[in-house]
Amino acid sequence: MKQYALDTHLVHTDRLVNSPEDGAVHTPTSNSVLFEFEDVADLEAVFQGKKAGHVYSRSSSGSAVALQNLLNELEGGVAATVFSTGMAAISATFFSLLRAGDHIVVSQFLFGNTRSFMQALEGFGIEISFVDISDADSVEKAMKENTKLVFCETIANPVTQVAAMYEIGDICERKNVLLIVDNTMTPFVMFNSKAVKSSLVITSLTKYIAGHGSVLGGVVVDTGLYNWENYSNISEKYKVPDSNLWGMTQIRKRGLRDMGATLAPSSAHAISVGLETLKLRMQKSCENAMAIAQYMQSSDEFKRVHYPGLNVHPHHTRAADIFGGQFGAILSFELADGLDFRAYLNKLNLVINATHLGDTRTLALPVSTTIFYENGLTQRQQMGISENLIRLSVGIEDTNDLLADFKAAFS
Ligand SMILES: *Cc1c(COP(=O)(O)O)cnc(C)c1O
Repeated sequence: MKQYALDTHLVHTDRLVNSPEDGAVHTPTSNSVLFEFEDVADLEAVFQGKKAGHVYSRSSSGSAVALQNLLNELEGGVAATVFSTGMAAISATFFSLLRAGDHIVVSQFLFGNTRSFMQALEGFGIEISFVDISDADSVEKAMKENTKLVFCETIANPVTQVAAMYEIGDICERKNVLLIVDNTMTPFVMFNSKAVKSSLVITSLTKYIAGHGSVLGGVVVDTGLYNWENYSNISEKYKVPDSNLWGMTQIRKRGLRDMGATLAPSSAHAISVGLETLKLRMQKSCENAMAIAQYMQSSDEFKRVHYPGLNVHPHHTRAADIFGGQFGAILSFELADGLDFRAYLNKLNLVINATHLGDTRTLALPVSTTIFYENGLTQRQQMGISENLIRLSVGIEDTNDLLADFKAAFS
């Protein structure tokens, strides 16, 4: 597959990697929960991991494995596991790999539900240092003897802080610490997590990858860069012959089989269809986001715009360096003093007031009263979230139609 450009891969990988029967170009959806074996010795061998196959679809199914193969190939990994949602991928990974008494270093700028999940982890005896991941020194300084992993997002939602990805990757490599990156905001078509030495890449498939607001999913990919022989929490049971697969084996057994947040076969199919147009959609959404950010930046009706594509953004140069000339499709803004954001949002016609992001449609959402409400004022301030901040997830509509909608809502 390597001889083709990414655009080509995206539309041909399913056919070429999974070789579906009957000349089908999509892997057919398989809905069987159970699997029959003519020879019971084969059933035993699959159970024991000595032979490939499926025994029960909570653990694996043809549809889930086909999507895993695609995402693993496209991300350049050694193994991948799909889950029912992005949060399932995150929680299963952390619960599989951590034990009470471990310490982890985590970005202080996180997706709201991930931030809230971290509080649950603390309840299980895991010590967390929350740090400003736009400053690599603060990541290094937070590390301790018992630090098991570092976790960050690439571009934070909603204030768009950009992680010092190259520097953090170097620090983790030097210190032999697992680096887990949530790459939902900048999926592999715009950011190569492996190039910054990520060990595991987690992506919510619900967002850009599926793209059409009709299906939930998540994935964790192992890039093969981390040496699991250095990770003290791998159970003897999961030390398979290839040590590259130790981490993923433990995630699959504990995180998927035992916790049970399995991706449905029909969802796997819908996600793989969405994936085919990911690059085109991402390009258009990024272009639209840049145009909207520039308009807002130059207009007196807006007090503040956060978008890494603007050269006034504090991490603009870094973003230009690591995201291949694109800057993502999330931006956030505050209206000028005296303007009521609720009245403004209610007057938008095309732009939809809704949570979610990475959709084909442009979505607007006040954040302090919704997705970051439960986090409280102190955490919001730590994340740089002001009380009147509006988040936009920019879609693939015509640029001028979007600009006209934002302008007309003032009249
Ligand atoms: C949405 C999102 C998630 C969670 O994904 P779901 O599929 O909604 O569970 C995790 N991380 C980031 C950065 C997200 O935007």
